[in-house]
Amino acid sequence: MRFGITQKVNDLFTDNTRYMIIIKQQVWEEIIAQAKREAPEESCGYLIGNDDVITENYKMENIDHSSEHFSFAPKDQFSAIRYVRSKGLQIIGNWHSHPVSPSRPSEEDLRLANDPDIRYFILSLANGDTVFNAFTVRQGKVVKKEEVTVE
Ligand SMILES: [Zn+2]
Repeated sequence: MRFGITQKVNDLFTDNTRYMIIIKQQVWEEIIAQAKREAPEESCGYLIGNDDVITENYKMENIDHSSEHFSFAPKDQFSAIRYVRSKGLQIIGNWHSHPVSPSRPSEEDLRLANDPDIRYFILSLANGDTVFNAFTVRQGKVVKKEEVTVE
């Protein structure tokens, strides 16, 4: 049901190029490697870059060490913010892995997604595949779903 609504929102954007998110090949390989290494626990990090081009993964520790949810270490969050400011970059969003479930937010992900200005990326490793989508969440609901292009 949630995805029916998202699809309608996406249909409003006919100029797809304006909304495309690009992730650099090297960063893509890095987050897959991190997620596989840390599975069955969920992995997480910040995706950093400029103008919807992701050029860096800022790896974070999942202090929950859980296969079903994640929390960033506050010290990692502070150092990530210092890092992007010092480099003149932006935090495009945060990402976490779903080792065995699809690339869409769980109920808990939605409950905790309280920043309307960033994207929430989810990397699914389910069934040996790698599926990566970006979600914008407002008031506990997905208002936009974007695919990510590896370049
Ligand atoms: Zn999740």
